[in-house]
Amino acid sequence: MKVGVLALQGDVEEHGHAFRAAAEELGVEVEVVRVREAGQLRDIKALAIPGGESTAIGLLARRARLIDELKSAIEGGLPALGTCAGAIFMAKEVRDSVVGETGQPILGVMDIAVVRNAFGRQADSFEVDLSVEGLGAVRAVFIRAPAIAKTWGSAKPLAYVDHPKLGRAIAAAQEGAMFATAFHPELTTTLFHKALLEAALGRR
Ligand code: GLN
Repeated sequence: MKVGVLALQGDVEEHGHAFRAAAEELGVEVEVVRVREAGQLRDIKALAIPGGESTAIGLLARRARLIDELKSAIEGGLPALGTCAGAIFMAKEVRDSVVGETGQPILGVMDIAVVRNAFGRQADSFEVDLSVEGLGAVRAVFIRAPAIAKTWGSAKPLAYVDHPKLGRAIAAAQEGAMFATAFHPELTTTLFHKALLEAALGRR
């Protein structure tokens, strides 16, 4: 089956690796498509939206006229994983820990509110072991990460992180076949990509 990685900006390659490793573990064949333009989503069965810089991803997606197509594909049930900047891009509510409202282009598909750069600057990046409901233990790498401040509707928290400055924040959330992580699972685990493939196969 074909799976896509939104390839406008960010750690696209790592998501490709994670999809291929996840597929191998599940014993299924995948072809990873780098999604850059409208039309490429048509035969994709799952999509990863990488980490990077959410403002850049949003502006490039708008320029490529991808926003509406991405939004309707995901709202139509395309299993999707947004990691870090990707989670920001999927959220319905976004603000920045320093500047507040950003007005950046987002998909706004998931019932989560995120606070960009909630854990501080690049130098405040960290790693921690987390337990993710339904998936298991993961090593979680937070790089200038957002915090998921709340979920509502049918979105629910899957993991929490306890941070010395911020207290307890939601680190991962799920709403149907949509997953959002404040951290970068593509760097350390195949669990989330396997969940996407299982959703695409109708096993989840
Ligand atoms: N700080 C970035 C943003 O706000 C996200 C960082 C990341 O994806 N590692 O978009």
